[in-house]
Amino acid sequence: MNLRKKAIASIASKGAKPPASRRAESISDIYGQDVFNIKTMKDYLPKPTYKALLATIQNGTTLDAGIADDVANAMKRWALSKGASHYTHWFQPLTGSTAEKHDSFIEPDHEGGVVLNFSGKTLIQGEPDASSFPSGGIRATFEARGYTAWDPTSPAFIKRDDNSATLCIPTAFCSYTGEALDKKTPLLRSMQAVSEQARRVLKCFGENVSGRAITTLGAEQEYFLIDKEIYLARPDLMQTGRTLFGNVPPKHQQLDDHYFGTIKPRILNFMSDVDQELWKLGIPAKTRHNEVAPAQFELAPMFEELNLSVDHNMLTMEILKTVADKHGLACLMHEKPFAGINGSGKHNNWSIATCDGKNLLDPGSNPHQNALFLTFLCAVIKAVDTHSDLMRSTCASAGNDHRLGANEAPPAIISIFLGEQLGDVINQLEKGPAKSAKSGGKMAVGVDTLPVLPRDATDRNRTSPFAFTGNKFEFRAVGSNQSCSGANIVINTIVAEALDEIATKLEGVKKSEFNKTLQSILQNIVKKHKKVIFNGDNYTEDWLKEAEKRGLPNLIKTPEALKPILTKKAEKLFEKYAVLSKKELHSRYEVFLENYETTIMIEGELALDIAKTMILPVAIKQQQLISKNIMNLKSVGAKAGIKEQKSTLEVVGNLIAELCNSAIALEESTKAESTKMILSSMQKLRKAVDGLEKEVDDTLWPLPKYAEMLFIY
Ligand code: ADP
Ligand code: MG
Repeated sequence: MNLRKKAIASIASKGAKPPASRRAESISDIYGQDVFNIKTMKDYLPKPTYKALLATIQNGTTLDAGIADDVANAMKRWALSKGASHYTHWFQPLTGSTAEKHDSFIEPDHEGGVVLNFSGKTLIQGEPDASSFPSGGIRATFEARGYTAWDPTSPAFIKRDDNSATLCIPTAFCSYTGEALDKKTPLLRSMQAVSEQARRVLKCFGENVSGRAITTLGAEQEYFLIDKEIYLARPDLMQTGRTLFGNVPPKHQQLDDHYFGTIKPRILNFMSDVDQELWKLGIPAKTRHNEVAPAQFELAPMFEELNLSVDHNMLTMEILKTVADKHGLACLMHEKPFAGINGSGKHNNWSIATCDGKNLLDPGSNPHQNALFLTFLCAVIKAVDTHSDLMRSTCASAGNDHRLGANEAPPAIISIFLGEQLGDVINQLEKGPAKSAKSGGKMAVGVDTLPVLPRDATDRNRTSPFAFTGNKFEFRAVGSNQSCSGANIVINTIVAEALDEIATKLEGVKKSEFNKTLQSILQNIVKKHKKVIFNGDNYTEDWLKEAEKRGLPNLIKTPEALKPILTKKAEKLFEKYAVLSKKELHSRYEVFLENYETTIMIEGELALDIAKTMILPVAIKQQQLISKNIMNLKSVGAKAGIKEQKSTLEVVGNLIAELCNSAIALEESTKAESTKMILSSMQKLRKAVDGLEKEVDDTLWPLPKYAEMLFIY
């Protein structure tokens, strides 16, 4: 019996898993129990220290270095009370995941024992050996030092397993010379940039600007779950996160019977554990449901302040994987684990609010609020149209290339969905003010009230990459495996630029002229940038043609989708708002491209290996099986069926020949390190292997089939 058959037999013998054990703890008791949150700080810190730290967290005021020792001491006491033995600076290098290096609190007391220490200096700065993290050329190995710097705006937390607990301190990561080597640093910078420009605009409107404007994110996370034993029989899933071979089974998602269906007990058991773990970390997990594809699910948290929400999404991905493992499942976060079946994305719900939490993308109920709303809405329209190529760059990866534009996910063309009613408002805005308030479908900014906009716009259009959904924008092109930082660094910075231009025109305008000036600013924005608005079906051929006519970029694959990062326009943008220097920007391009190329190389080499060592042998066995049978039949003088079996033998023989030939081509492509060639020979190889899957004796076939991965759980 091969590993595949053993796995299936083993799962079958286990029978149904017991239902989730009853939980004793109440949610409110466990929520945030492993977070050094504001309430804990209040309990553990001297009052003045607490106040100074809170000001940094809530208003972004510079951190008073003098309080670091107090905070460190409090954090240590708290962490020890939680059973922690170690601490780590937790950061987000350009690898796409998170990084940590643990240090224990112990220091010898010179009497043969230890004292447990954690100083302010250790809290504020760390110096991990950074030489093996990607830097895109920023850091030569002789100056390999990197620094981690405490980010007080994201609270420290305890990461635990059955045997240990570690205090994790969210940090930014930069080089000896101060360049960002991570995803958090530019994210924080971009949040500051958009806040500054938003406050200028808000000031023109006479709004409260006593604190910073707050960007918010709710990241919906899609993922697949398959049985761990089956997963272990798929080297491609283990090594690349996706199946390099395999046929779509007769039944997959055609009947739409999985989406929002009853959640199976084993999965619900898993989800409940995930929720518990997330709640302990103060991550507001809210929604859980079955997604479109079989074995596909989604988790959505409540939105939070952007930086925190990104950290929380990184932790959520980690927890999904570790909890899955405990449940004998493997959690697949790849953008396209199964060809021909829906892939997974991450819906990046973005908005911006005033310092007192008023959502600026909420239309509101009076003309003043509406004018403010329309201003921010138009800023986003202008930003996205001006930099749609950069928006596309943020979602470019080897994995997401299989998903974007595959008629299940938004296409590579970035456009904005506003919905019918808001689309109409924008049209009126373009036509410009009526003499009296709103007559003949014209909109007077600051005078008219908007119609009540529907909140459930998402349900009417799921095909748009960037959809306005009632009170936020939902960027759906982000890949399930990606960090949200890239997308939001760009959104923040391009919106900052648009707000900057608007503020510059509004500042100094007399009160009596304000509405008129604003009207003309917004009217001009709509005229110039409405080409990026598309309310139709983004999956159609017609849209591809229409988008081309409108001059919207369609950057299909990663190598071209990353190019906009290198333009003068991008350099100017990021330098102007101090988000990324030219050097930092270019280094990111290098890292992303290298990651793409390396991923394809790995896939190529692995495909070759599997085809040659796992598939070819069983194909040959199949060939022997038939040919021996034909010889046997002939030797006993039987005639029936020989002709037919010979033609089957030809089919198998041809597929084997195809496999061998494309394996040779793939080997050459990997030697030449040409991603284009690798991709095309992998496709040919896949065709041969998938053809053989349909011919070879099922008991011989070594790789778990799609139906087994998607339906056994
Ligand atoms: P839908 O499922 O229709 O997209 P939801 O309201 O459930 O609508 O939103 C999905 C995600 O958007 C959730 O994570 C939610 O918290 C988030 N979200 C809601 N309002 C905002 C906002 N103002 N800023 C950022 N994200 C938001
Ligand atoms: Mg959504």
